[in-house]
Parts: sequence; C-alpha cells; structure tokens
Amino acid sequence: MFIDTHAHLYGRQFDGDREEMLARALAAGVERLYLPNIDRDSIDGMNALAAAHPGRCFPMMGLHPCSVGEHNDEVMAVMERELRTGRYFAVGEIGIDLYWDKTWLGQQQEVFRQHIRWAKELRLPIVIHCRNSFEETIAIVEEEKDEHLRGVFHCFGGTVEEGRRILALDGFVLGIGGVITYPKSGLAQVMSELGPERCVLETDAPYLAPVPHRGKRNESAYIPLVAAELAKATGRSVEEIARITTANATNLFGR
Ligand SMILES: [Zn+2]
Repeated sequence: MFIDTHAHLYGRQFDGDREEMLARALAAGVERLYLPNIDRDSIDGMNALAAAHPGRCFPMMGLHPCSVGEHNDEVMAVMERELRTGRYFAVGEIGIDLYWDKTWLGQQQEVFRQHIRWAKELRLPIVIHCRNSFEETIAIVEEEKDEHLRGVFHCFGGTVEEGRRILALDGFVLGIGGVITYPKSGLAQVMSELGPERCVLETDAPYLAPVPHRGKRNESAYIPLVAAELAKATGRSVEEIARITTANATNLFGR
C-alpha cells in the first residue's frame, strides 16, 4: 500500500477522466491521496473531490507562495476561516518560491510565517513548497520550530547538506517525487546518502511525471515508479519503501 502525499487531483487537467484516474491509483496500490490547496479559487473543487471520496482523498488548506501578491489580507482571512473549520489535514501548500523573481519575497515570508503560527495553534502539519529559496525557507522553519511544528518539505530536490538540515528538525520529513527518476537531478545519489527512513512519497500530479511519463500529465498511479527509484537508490526493496513511507505519512497526517 502507498500514500500519495501531494497531488492536485482537483485540477482541470483531470476533468475528463477523474474517476478513472482514481481507479487506476487504487489498482496501483495508492490508497490515500492528500490534496494541497493553491488559492481561493481551488478550494471548492478540492473540497468537492474530498467529499466524494471520504477516507481516500484528504484536503489541506493554505495559500501557495506563487499566489501571494497584492490581496493577501483578504485571501488570508479566507484561509484562516477555512482552517478553523477543522476539516483539513494539513496547512499547505505554503512556503517561498523565488524561481521567477524576488518581488514578493517579503510578503511570501510574512504569509508563510502566519500559516506556520496557525499550524502550531491548530496542531496541524505543514506542507512546504520551497523553490530557489532553501535558505529563506528553512530559516523561518528553524525560527518557528517548537514541539508542535512538524511537516514535509514537498518535492525535495536539494543537496545532502540541505537534506540533513531538514532532518535535524524533529518531526520533519522529505517528500520524494518524480524528480528522483530524472538522471540529471542527482536526487537518487543524494537519497543514497540520506536514506529512506524520513521520506514520504508524492506525485505533485499533474506536474513532474516520473520517467517514462516525463513531460506528460502526472497522476497518482505513478507512485510505484517513484517508490522503485527510491528503493534502487537506497538499496531497499519496494515493499520496505512502501512500509516506511506509509508509516511516515500516517504519522504525519493522521487518518
Ligand atoms: Zn503542489
């Protein structure tokens, strides 16, 4: 049994075959799916999908860093109101993204910190999106870390040193996805050193499809391809990877 800890299955890329895609995931052994929120407009579709598949699809709530901009106060009021309904399994996805530019860095930092404070108060894990921003992101997590703060660095693609800095934080795990199947990413080599003990699996569907589907739409049924690559990199069996990552995800999100 596998868990896909990060999949945008409510996206319109799946409008034509969503139920078939979910059936393929189940047939591949992917029994639980965690849905990260993006912005105000993604909430209804995400919650509708979760409501249609109780015990299988689990929603999270948060404002993606690429959606941080001029109207934060208004949108953050919506995020807080949603989080306080108690229906979400994590605060996410949240973080800092400096891939395009640094225009909103200050706002992204402020919004990230506010989400972390809600997560601590509500005792929810956080799901972190961090792109071209490792130092900026980890600095805030380290500052805010307390006994209640735990979470996942989603789509981990960093160095061994960065991985160790994350794993020095009690209660934090690495989200491993399709990038581990891309030879030039070097992630398989990095994971051979870090090991699978603090990992969870994810697709980030519809993005970042693993080889041999690279460049096409990703879906949760491809989780075993990620597990196989992590197994190969760390010298474990796929069964061991399934057991370790499922236990970690269950521990992180509850049921
Ligand atoms: Zn995502």
